[in-house]
Amino acid sequence: MNVIEAKGLRFKYRRSQKYALGGIDLKVKKGEFLGIVGPSGSGKSTLCLTFNGIIPHSIKGEFEGEVVVTDPTTEEKYSTRETPVPKLSTIVGLVLQNPESQIFNMTVEEEVAFALENLGLPREEILRRIEWALRIAGLEDKREEFPPSLSGGEQQRLAIAAILAMKPQVLVLDEPTTQLDPAGRKSVLEMISKLNADEGITVIMVDHNTSFLFRRADRIVAIHEGKIVMEGTPRKLVSRAEELKEIGVKIPAGIELYNELSRANPETQVLTLDEILYE
Ligand code: ADP
Repeated sequence: MNVIEAKGLRFKYRRSQKYALGGIDLKVKKGEFLGIVGPSGSGKSTLCLTFNGIIPHSIKGEFEGEVVVTDPTTEEKYSTRETPVPKLSTIVGLVLQNPESQIFNMTVEEEVAFALENLGLPREEILRRIEWALRIAGLEDKREEFPPSLSGGEQQRLAIAAILAMKPQVLVLDEPTTQLDPAGRKSVLEMISKLNADEGITVIMVDHNTSFLFRRADRIVAIHEGKIVMEGTPRKLVSRAEELKEIGVKIPAGIELYNELSRANPETQVLTLDEILYE
């Protein structure tokens, strides 16, 4: 089942001359881990904003084609053009780069409870969801803390937990670790892996530091000037690393080494991709 399907999607921001998205066709399967790569300005963030309807509802412009979101629990389909963002957000959660911009409450627990209170859920269900989200985020012991006092990694895990509590089927993460130190990045990446592998949540993630996506994604799409220019398994994209580099995608040094070694010794596999991409 496809949870998200974009068909002939084009978008031009107001007052902009050119299309940020120039005709995207993309299907995202339930349970899939999809990586999105591309140079700066290629349209990755714009594409993410179309998945939960922020484009075209909150950010307006010329929107053509369509994005259809399917709720896997009911199999109901929602065209984002006709569905309000709050409804779409219960199916597709969006995590942004900067954790501070997503956190508003006085305690960790209140932050997770906040969005739930507007859903009109029974109190017991709210408490169950808070426990679940805090456990996955590894923040059970921090529930009374003031969010700005947390580390960057903890703040981003909290931002993800607050979105998770809405029980979205799909999590879209746009450069979620860019603002974090290596330890913070590692803890957030582990959380994302777990959500996909253990909780079955469909993950769509943009990351300019591509090593995690090459290691962990089921499939990667590369975007250049608002169009998908390459698509396939990480292994397939590794074999086309030179072309990716030419359009400005950062290729992990290990992959270049791997390709050189494979070319030099086509018979013997010196290292596996997993070994090379470990971080
Ligand atoms: P990426 O995420 O790959 O860096 P973006 O989706 O942010 O790319 O940007 C795609 C294109 O849209 C760029 O040319 C960028 O300048 C333009 N753009 C992004 N946001 C806006 C905006 N709010 N108004 C006008 N143009 C924008």
